[in-house]
Amino acid sequence: MSQVFDLHTHSTASDGILSPELLVEKASHVGINTLALTDHDTVAGLAAAQLAAKKHNISLINGIELSSQWDSKTIHIVGLNINVNSEAIINATVHLNQLREERAIKMGEKLKKIGIHGAYENAKRIAAGGTVTRQHFSTFLVENGHAKNQTDVFKRYLVNNKPGYASVEWPGLEETIAQINNAGGVAVIAHPLRYKITATKLRNMIKDFKALGGKAIEVVTGHNQSTEIQLATNYAKRYDVAASVGSDFHSGNTAWGQLGKLAVLPQGLTPVWELW
Ligand code: AMP
Ligand code: MN
Ligand code: MN
Ligand code: MN
Repeated sequence: MSQVFDLHTHSTASDGILSPELLVEKASHVGINTLALTDHDTVAGLAAAQLAAKKHNISLINGIELSSQWDSKTIHIVGLNINVNSEAIINATVHLNQLREERAIKMGEKLKKIGIHGAYENAKRIAAGGTVTRQHFSTFLVENGHAKNQTDVFKRYLVNNKPGYASVEWPGLEETIAQINNAGGVAVIAHPLRYKITATKLRNMIKDFKALGGKAIEVVTGHNQSTEIQLATNYAKRYDVAASVGSDFHSGNTAWGQLGKLAVLPQGLTPVWELW
């Protein structure tokens, strides 16, 4: 049987809509046989996902999506096949969730200043014990009629220079890659074409990433077009990094169609799963 991979997904342990169990079940139903759960800055969903994966007879790769920064820009680094009990991962998740908590409090205060009360408390309620993200603030703002949808709410409130945005000093790329490597994992640049940086900067980022011990970039993602796949393929070849495949699935409503429905990895690349 052919292997169908999806190595970037979210559950309710961060800002996904499905519990780890339901995510695994759905993944199995759409024909994925190797799934990575990569919640933002947490491994809390992995134990439940592993149990569900056994039940559904699919392979579950322990993953995480770490918030990081390069050249003062927030970037996301996926760690695949990590040891969840390693000191490196425990330290990383504790630190990152502390930063998230501080930022969430600031976001709540900023929104209060423009007359929106209870945003922090509600974001925490919606996160329900999982990593609190801007996604949870956006859900609250939409529910309360402050914006008509997610895209609108981010644009108007939750990005740089908007009233609900608070910046955060994420750990630098070097630290993030070291944490993943120390946890025995493979570091992957998530959605490389989604950062709002020039092509030159992106190339520099990939070069730095590789020099610091990073191993792969996502070549096929849930949102990209064939021209973007081609572009990412060229980067992977040029900088000699492996290639990953991941939908970045979050939601049953909007991106649901994307789970497992990914383009095939172009020829001539080293698939990231050959690294473990
Ligand atoms: P955070 O890591 O807390 O800054 O939140 C980032 C998350 O918010 C991403 O992983 C997405 O799930 C979501 N997000 C970011 N930007 C947008 C956007 N423009 N529209 C919808 N969701 C977004
Ligand atoms: Mn997210
Ligand atoms: Mn991301
Ligand atoms: Mn993601």
